[in-house]
Amino acid sequence: MKIKSVEIFRHDLPVKNGPYTMANAEVWALETTLVKLIADNGLVGWGETCPVGPTYAEAHARGAQAALLQMAPSLVGTDVLPLTIARTMHGELNGHNYAKAAIDIAGYDLLGKHYGVRVADLLGGVANENLPSYYATGVGAPDEIARLAADKCNEGYPRLQIKVGGRPVELDIETIRKVWERVSGSGMRLAVDGNRGWTTRDALRVSRECPDIPFVMEQPCNRIEDLAKIRPQVQHAIYMDESGVDLATVIRAAGSGLVDGFGMKVTRIGGLQQMAAFRDICEALNLPHTCDDAWGGDIIAAACTHLAATVKPALLEGVWLAEPMIETPYVEDGGVRIQDGHIRLPRRPGLGIMPDERLFGAPIASF
Ligand SMILES: [Mg+2]
Repeated sequence: MKIKSVEIFRHDLPVKNGPYTMANAEVWALETTLVKLIADNGLVGWGETCPVGPTYAEAHARGAQAALLQMAPSLVGTDVLPLTIARTMHGELNGHNYAKAAIDIAGYDLLGKHYGVRVADLLGGVANENLPSYYATGVGAPDEIARLAADKCNEGYPRLQIKVGGRPVELDIETIRKVWERVSGSGMRLAVDGNRGWTTRDALRVSRECPDIPFVMEQPCNRIEDLAKIRPQVQHAIYMDESGVDLATVIRAAGSGLVDGFGMKVTRIGGLQQMAAFRDICEALNLPHTCDDAWGGDIIAAACTHLAATVKPALLEGVWLAEPMIETPYVEDGGVRIQDGHIRLPRRPGLGIMPDERLFGAPIASF
């Protein structure tokens, strides 16, 4: 099976009950980029990449589209095999993992449909059909976030991520304390995500002032050197998210004991093929991790869920999806949804969903 044509689409995703707030950004609408691969046997595969605005990472929507325009012509005639596709893309463009990921995901969707198996099976086999999700609160007033935390706990979420940073650290400490007062004893696990927004001074202070609260500290500061600086002094586990830009960085961070786990994004690492390698490295070192993406609709949600289904359950921290904040799903039914804090793995072959492409309008480019 070879790729016969590549189509690239652009689609706006307004944030339901927006904005979504992080230390470095406030987003009201996201532009997602979709890739449709058509094979020479008529099968169709879909991929997607959607940076959460232009300041979250070194990635932005128009950058993804430019990278895809650069690579797409070389993919026509290529065998639909993940490594072959990856090496063809690397031969055309250095870096830009987040754009390559959309092609990689579409390739897996095609391959699964071709063989009549789910993407999770292609990735090694399903360990869990009902995946735990987690809720990310956004940066907000302490009482409001504590109320939200209690609501999400009651909904059945097993994990909560409190967004912090970009404001006086005293407010972050008050938020963490008030959330813990509401969820302590419930079994809810906590992550505190600085999204690179704290100074090392702030991170040290939070850890010192909240020694009794068992949260993991996710990407508190901007650089890997900052994490190394605070590492010997904090009492809390440190997870790397934004700094984990490729497998080489992950291997260095995990192998040197710099971190206790990862928040990981399928598109940042370069797609499902690279994410499966990441999963295996973490399993070898017994490191927990999430399996998410920064943003995106049903296609990226399905990709995250299929990979997460293959992760050793004891090491899966959860699957975050933008789904609760997406106004219009791509699929009428059978889409990937969070219910009671958990996500069911789609049952049909490939990614198991078929988007209604009329929503996306005409492609911005076809090859
Ligand atoms: Mg994070």
